[in-house]
Amino acid sequence: MLIGAHISTVGGEKKMIEKINNFDINVIQIFVSAPRNFNDSKFNQGSAKEFAEYIRKKTKVKDIFYHAIYLINLASSNKDLVEKSKNSLISSLQVCSWMKSQGVIFHIGSSRERTFDQAKDEIADNINSILLNTPKNSTLIIETNAGQGNCVGSKFEEIEYLISKTKDKSRIGVCLDTAHSFASGYDLSNPEKLLKNFDNIIGLKYLKAIHLNDSKTDFNSNVDRHENIGKGKIGLENIKNFINQKTLKNIPFILEVPGFDNTGPDKKNIEIVKKLLR
Ligand SMILES: [Zn+2]
Repeated sequence: MLIGAHISTVGGEKKMIEKINNFDINVIQIFVSAPRNFNDSKFNQGSAKEFAEYIRKKTKVKDIFYHAIYLINLASSNKDLVEKSKNSLISSLQVCSWMKSQGVIFHIGSSRERTFDQAKDEIADNINSILLNTPKNSTLIIETNAGQGNCVGSKFEEIEYLISKTKDKSRIGVCLDTAHSFASGYDLSNPEKLLKNFDNIIGLKYLKAIHLNDSKTDFNSNVDRHENIGKGKIGLENIKNFINQKTLKNIPFILEVPGFDNTGPDKKNIEIVKKLLR
């Protein structure tokens, strides 16, 4: 089983390694650069390779995922913002390739005053242009969204449309965030139906990761607030049924929960999930 968490790189590699080994996890997600600005990543080819090799050598980590910065918007009508977002994702995918990472997970962004239909072909063009300008061994992973403020990707049909327009389908994937999808109206109490729905519309072969989070906000609320496992509106029983679905056996689970001491994903949340897995 592949289970892990978002791990902060602040404080350096030694601190990260201590945390990963303490959590006893084999998957991590990290930011390639500071998530709230468009500054370049600190990694170059040499340091990226060295970093990833060091992490994989000193821990049980197999899969390394990246989370793109929060400012990304490929759906905006603001051309400057879209250009900056494309460049940021191109830079992240480059680092991804150097580190042999499993991919860069990102939010498409909000189409704001436009509908999805009005923005969808521009978004698809942006994805194709990013993939055209990045190494072949890097994967762009669209995260499901809670659907607040015209954010694209809250409906499986929207993601399916974008994948259908992607020229190199071997380099595109999906990360299902349980808190976001619950908030956008996908019922976690019937995981068989949910995954069947995902398979029928998008295709399970595109599912590259699960962001496993409970939700502070109500079903179909369109509000994105993560909660510790079992403490939110999805609840322990539903999470247990979901993570034990056979179709998810080889899919990495990544926790992005606030933590019981509010310092981010913690050992306690990881242990709860491990206990729930049969
Ligand atoms: Zn997430």
